Amino acid sequence: MIKKGSKLYSISYNKCPKCHCGSFWHKNNPYLNILKNNKLTNSHCANCMFKYEIEPGFWFGAMYVSYAIAVAFVLIFGALLYVFFENMDIITIVSILSVFVIIFSPINHFFSRLIWINIFIDYTNSIKQ
Ligand SMILES: [Zn+2]
Repeated sequence: MIKKGSKLYSISYNKCPKCHCGSFWHKNNPYLNILKNNKLTNSHCANCMFKYEIEPGFWFGAMYVSYAIAVAFVLIFGALLYVFFENMDIITIVSILSVFVIIFSPINHFFSRLIWINIFIDYTNSIKQ
């Protein structure tokens, strides 16, 4: 569906941003990576040996992506709750949104790192596979 070579492919299928073959995270399920396994990303790609942490502190930048995703989620679903449940007060809406942001934080973390590394690394198929 999504063609190999696009950044969306790497983000959607949890693949190395450089070769689109090796896994970026240990598991495809964000909850298993963070809550159960307690491991973060693989240190390097198993296929092309690309080191994921380009420089020390590289992942701090993913916090900005994570923040943007969380704010977009809150604005969109807060507006939907406000429009479709007119009797609901703002405290209830904020409480519901806070719970959902916490529940979905592993998914947010999962995709924010993939998006962040794909901003800087382009796909190259010059590597022998
Ligand atoms: Zn790779």
